[in-house]
Amino acid sequence: MHRKVRVTRPLRAGCWKDSNLFWRNGLSVFVLDRQGVAVMPCTQKRARLLLARGRARVHRLVPFVIRLVDVKAKHCNLQPLSLKIDPGSKTTGMALVRDAQKLDMDTGEISKGAAVLSLVEIAHRGRQISEALTARRQMRRRRRSQLRYRAPRFLNRGNKGKGWIAPSLQHRVDGTLAWVKRIVRWAPVRSISQELVRFDMQAMQTPGIEGIEYQQGTLAGYELREFLLEKWGCKCAYCGAENVPLQIEHIHPRSRGGSSRESNLTLACQCCNEKKAALPIEVFLAKKPEVLKRILSQAKKPLRDAAAVNATRWVLFQSLKQTGIEVLTSSGGRTKFNRQQNHVPKTHALDAACVGDVDWVVNWNRPTLQIKCTGRGSYQRTRLDKFGFPRGYLMREKSVKGFATGDLVKAVVPAGKKAGLHQGRVAIRATGSFNIQTREGVVQGISHRHCTLLQRGDGYGYQQQSKPDAGRDRASHDALCLPGMNAGVSRAIHG
Ligand SMILES: [Zn+2]
Repeated sequence: MHRKVRVTRPLRAGCWKDSNLFWRNGLSVFVLDRQGVAVMPCTQKRARLLLARGRARVHRLVPFVIRLVDVKAKHCNLQPLSLKIDPGSKTTGMALVRDAQKLDMDTGEISKGAAVLSLVEIAHRGRQISEALTARRQMRRRRRSQLRYRAPRFLNRGNKGKGWIAPSLQHRVDGTLAWVKRIVRWAPVRSISQELVRFDMQAMQTPGIEGIEYQQGTLAGYELREFLLEKWGCKCAYCGAENVPLQIEHIHPRSRGGSSRESNLTLACQCCNEKKAALPIEVFLAKKPEVLKRILSQAKKPLRDAAAVNATRWVLFQSLKQTGIEVLTSSGGRTKFNRQQNHVPKTHALDAACVGDVDWVVNWNRPTLQIKCTGRGSYQRTRLDKFGFPRGYLMREKSVKGFATGDLVKAVVPAGKKAGLHQGRVAIRATGSFNIQTREGVVQGISHRHCTLLQRGDGYGYQQQSKPDAGRDRASHDALCLPGMNAGVSRAIHG
């Protein structure tokens, strides 16, 4: 469902034009052609020049999208872009990258790489959804047990068929998918890379852990080590020592025909490893039968939750495939390997940039657009007290004086205590006196007469996070600056 973005008046933003905040926004700009077809994203400087020369219109403010008036996509050279996704339970990272290749002149090898264009983090609200459903269920139960008879309302849904996942999890899939679809609409994405599993079990089945491969830290060896650390919990399996260097250890010794599959491997401190040497484990642990029993049973157990099975990621994978774009999958071990090889700091968005088959990552030191799932309000018009009884009622209309809660507005207050410029998400009141959630906090009691609509609420809040490598002591958030603001939003095709 798209609401038409309203035409806003060109803003007379005198104080904004001079503000050094105005163009200090390192996020790249999405570009559409005159028919709304995506072409290559550009820098902010280029977008500003295109707007100033009248060659482009503002299509959307956050994320910033412009539409060229004199170019058609079929006449443009498009480079291969990939959208990389690292799905998380609280936050999902996304990175739009340009796929590139480098030829090593000495060896003749071609290495694959990713040049980062855009970084995005989506903060999900799975927890709020789950809490709201729990609260509703408990209040219903209480009312049912304490008041007049109410027919039972459990086990009567019949909608938990195949493929059902809990609403809080479904929200993560839907939210991620919605942003994938948006970015695909705004940029010529050719493929999607998704981190699907934590460890690549297949790569671990034949690891040459004692040979050159392991010592040089190849991917298979790396994943195996990470996997064993997860499975055996960062301590020596025999003596329980923690915070000591751990070595990979064969439970049934290699010299007695023990295999190098992960089911025969554990972690031991150097001391235990040397003591055990080629002894059979039954002999080595003859005096500790309970440790022997634990190790033998744990060795056989697959690492279920961490290794492979993550229902939400699989549902997301299935949904991504339905977009018709090529979907590549990768493992978390590989992401971490790529990230450490390239000395990239850990954030959700940068993790996403390192997903998949890449040897090098460049241009990663750029700001991240943080998107918070806020929802579009609630159907429930009755406010409840803590016992589940009505306390008050919300108004039926969702908009007041043309504004709705969640809209991005700019308020210029000429005089009084609240004098100044306030910009952010608005929360409406029936009285026409609104609250604005700005970067500095909530400003209460701003009259609708001072507000100008910048962008309709779309169920998300936006904020910009500064470069990961910029001075650590600086505030982590920059105010969200809107590069297209003094150009005004043109009559958009859709949002
Ligand atoms: Zn030990």
